[in-house]
Amino acid sequence: MGGGQGAGSLALPPQTSSQIIIIGGGLAGVEAAWQAARRGVKVRLYEMKPRRFSPAHQSPLLGELVCSNSLRADSVENAVGLLKEEMRRLGSLLLAAAAATRVAAGKALAVDREAFAAYLTEALENEPLVEIIREEVTELNADQTTILATGPLTSDALAGALARVTGQEHLHFYDAIAPIVYAESLDMSKVFRASRYGAGEDYLNCPFTEEEYAAFYQALMAAEQAPLRSFEEPRYFEGCLPLEVMAARGYLTLVYGPLKPVGLVDPGTGRQPFAVAQLRQENREGTLYNLVGFQTKLKYGEQERVFRLIPGLEHAEFARLGSIHRNTFIRSPGLLSPHLNFLEHPHLFLAGQISGVEGYVESGAMGLLAGINAARQAQARPLVTPPRATALGALIHHLTNTETKDFQPMNVNFGLFPPLPGRTPKKLRGAAYATRALEELEDWQRQMEEGG
Ligand SMILES: Cc1cc2nc3c(=O)[nH]c(=O)nc-3n(C[C@H](O)[C@H](O)[C@H](O)COP(=O)(O)OP(=O)(O)OC[C@H]3O[C@@H](n4cnc5c(N)ncnc54)[C@H](O)[C@@H]3O)c2cc1C
Repeated sequence: MGGGQGAGSLALPPQTSSQIIIIGGGLAGVEAAWQAARRGVKVRLYEMKPRRFSPAHQSPLLGELVCSNSLRADSVENAVGLLKEEMRRLGSLLLAAAAATRVAAGKALAVDREAFAAYLTEALENEPLVEIIREEVTELNADQTTILATGPLTSDALAGALARVTGQEHLHFYDAIAPIVYAESLDMSKVFRASRYGAGEDYLNCPFTEEEYAAFYQALMAAEQAPLRSFEEPRYFEGCLPLEVMAARGYLTLVYGPLKPVGLVDPGTGRQPFAVAQLRQENREGTLYNLVGFQTKLKYGEQERVFRLIPGLEHAEFARLGSIHRNTFIRSPGLLSPHLNFLEHPHLFLAGQISGVEGYVESGAMGLLAGINAARQAQARPLVTPPRATALGALIHHLTNTETKDFQPMNVNFGLFPPLPGRTPKKLRGAAYATRALEELEDWQRQMEEGG
């Protein structure tokens, strides 16, 4: 931790018994601080802004939404809507802020991002049990009750400290995003609209001849990649590999992967092309399309040059170019307990994106649970975990399921829930998951209140 005046350090001064430390004042850290304070526990909340900003953060306020202003679907028949309802019932500060700063967004819950962050900041500044310290933390002390909630862009020094606690092999640093093109810049005399085998979602398809593929492949292999920082050795999700990493595995790897032509017939030739690049509609208006599977770390100029070799994209204008996200997260199964503390370091809790969930709401949800449990630990009370059939429990299950082979950060979805008993028609499943979850949540809340 930086040695700024009055900043304290994780090693100094020692905590009083009912005090916890939270590192990171983003969505998870803010919610955790609120939950702990509501339980009468003192919180020292460390936030490095405005002294230091990650590459995505811009505002000095706590609880900043770095990209979209949407907290996604509102209905409880949708898994993320259900998660929000569970959080509301557990007294979530994030959901109170969202209700107070909501903007019109159809079936989604979207907020005015400035007002949202201002609401959260003010709520914590006015909370006497919370002390906000604007310092970057660089060291961890696993002997003090601490919640690490520094997010996908955790500062380098602290990521290094975490790697020393967990073992380097359990800490991941990246995910990857694909470029987006403007529909009007496509050559529709070459591109055709179709779904594979005529079933499912429609794509725009860019057909390659063998010669066109060979030229594209050569250019891709020769293109310059954006440099990585020295300490960061990339560990990509197997399902989300950069295009050039996949291509380097062999000349035809792409033809069996993201450029596979099977099930697609070019109406121009009446035949299956040698390879096909697929474009998926990105916005409701149909003005933007993303290049499916084209996540990449090529330099921007190189991306434009190489991707314009795709038939139909010769004059493509790019709304967004591909990049590799820093996404610091832990391979949590086998490391984290269902209470969100480390099995081997029970005083150290994780919350937010770094715990292995994906998304604003999911990050906040893990903050909520970590806040409850860190507070309970500080008060020498037993730790708790929500029932498996709740959205909160489903996420915890994802983080602790040691049977997962290739662990990846995950948005909440009904696939993570235990199956419903019997056969429920598809249309009624969302409501059935929600009814079961909210009943179990109510029982759990009652038990917590009765059990002390
Ligand atoms: C570029 C980008 C765009 C994203 N867009 C979306 C989106 O549109 N929708 C969505 O649902 N999710 C999105 N996510 C994923 C994720 O939901 C968000 O990153 C979310 O903010 C994660 O919440 P968090 O609390 O874990 O981390 P954050 O909200 O990032 O909070 C972490 C906080 O910790 C602070 N911090 C970091 N290191 C230190 C340190 N050493 N000492 C003290 N403070 C520190 C940071 O300044 C920050 O305030 C995006 C992620 C990224 C990287």
